[in-house]
Amino acid sequence: MAFTLDKSAAAFSAAKQHIPGGVNSPVRSFRGVGGTPPFIAAAQGSRLHDIDGNQYIDYVGSWGPMILGHAHPAVTEALREAVGRGTSYGAPTLLETELAELVKAAVPSIDLVRFVNSGTEATMSVLRLARAFTGRSKIVKFAGCYHGHHDSLLVKAGSGATTLGIPDSPGVPEGIAATTLTAAYNDIAGLADIFHRHGEDIAAVIIEPVPGNMGLVLPRDGYLQAVRDLTAKYESLLIFDEVMSGFRVAYGGAQAAFGITPDLTCLGKVIGGGLPVGAYGGRRDIMEYIAPAGPVYQAGTLSGNPLAMTAGITTLKAIGVPGYYDRLSEKTAVLCAGVKAQAEKFGFELQHHQIGSMFGLFFTAEPVYDYDSAKRSDVGAFNTYFHAMLAQGVYLAPSQFEAAFMSSAHSDDDIAVTIAASAAAFAKVA
Ligand code: PLP
Repeated sequence: MAFTLDKSAAAFSAAKQHIPGGVNSPVRSFRGVGGTPPFIAAAQGSRLHDIDGNQYIDYVGSWGPMILGHAHPAVTEALREAVGRGTSYGAPTLLETELAELVKAAVPSIDLVRFVNSGTEATMSVLRLARAFTGRSKIVKFAGCYHGHHDSLLVKAGSGATTLGIPDSPGVPEGIAATTLTAAYNDIAGLADIFHRHGEDIAAVIIEPVPGNMGLVLPRDGYLQAVRDLTAKYESLLIFDEVMSGFRVAYGGAQAAFGITPDLTCLGKVIGGGLPVGAYGGRRDIMEYIAPAGPVYQAGTLSGNPLAMTAGITTLKAIGVPGYYDRLSEKTAVLCAGVKAQAEKFGFELQHHQIGSMFGLFFTAEPVYDYDSAKRSDVGAFNTYFHAMLAQGVYLAPSQFEAAFMSSAHSDDDIAVTIAASAAAFAKVA
């Protein structure tokens, strides 16, 4: 049967009558790659099923959370039980402490952790805390790193902002944007220069230690340690935004993989097992500045929600078993090697990046190590590749500037099918 998205196209038109652009998060609209986004009816294991009757091997995983695959039996069962006990109390529960203990055991730099409802909320709150703790106003972020959509950090952001060409959104007050200084990722001399000029005003450096929002970019040897050393020298706080990399590149996140201890860490995605969650945590002396322990206000009607905590606890227990990450990384390496071999057959010299179960490829022959080098990719070639993969039942993120994610539900067969589909997709690009 020919691949069609007729029902999805009709649903998309209807959605646009009621929802801006027809979606509740911009990159879902396929604006970067063109065409119609499949409307999803259900998901199971490694597969998404759309309302047109197509099924896809899913490498988006809801943008990272679904490390166990969709509708994992343990998570589904735990949620079924939990929902019968009520969906929100707005009062403390044992579940919050249990998830906090699991997070702390995995991420030893975290002494205290506060749960919120999204990654955006985590990074927004952590900046207020960093400013209050240090008494300084400026923040350093890196071009192409995305930390959510609040004002301070929607400056030279990657991800959907790159795809849609709006790295600096209208509506962000100039005064707020002016407190955000931007450095190039992987360029320690550039960061040192910023510290040389503004060091005494810099409350914190916030970084995706392994950026996944300009496509997947890897840190150069020694880079993250050099960032740690500079922040320590100027008594600025180092914030690792591990919303994407946390419990993904390793159980303990990028900080475990690279052996760096940040002052504060933001988490999200995997720790909510597919339910809305975020968290920020770190050194006790800093975290005790948060109300009601301290003066910095931050709150949330649904924060620590029992369903989100349940999905998170069940997920962390399932992925915290010996060998889980090794198997996931090996599987991802097999896929990446297979795709690379196909690309080479067609004479493409591309940049293939992988760390753990995060991976991606850039359509450029030049090395990619920061936002500018990522932007040299041939977006048209990516778009052709993307649509050829989609038509063959492989669902990648609809943008050159996003990472892909493997789950433990992906089978060897899924990987073989994906490699074969890649061959046909490269043939279209060639
Ligand atoms: N930080 C990083 C590194 C992210 O990748 C994202 C989202 O993709 C966020 C923060 C924002 O998280 P959320 O979309 O849950 O607000």
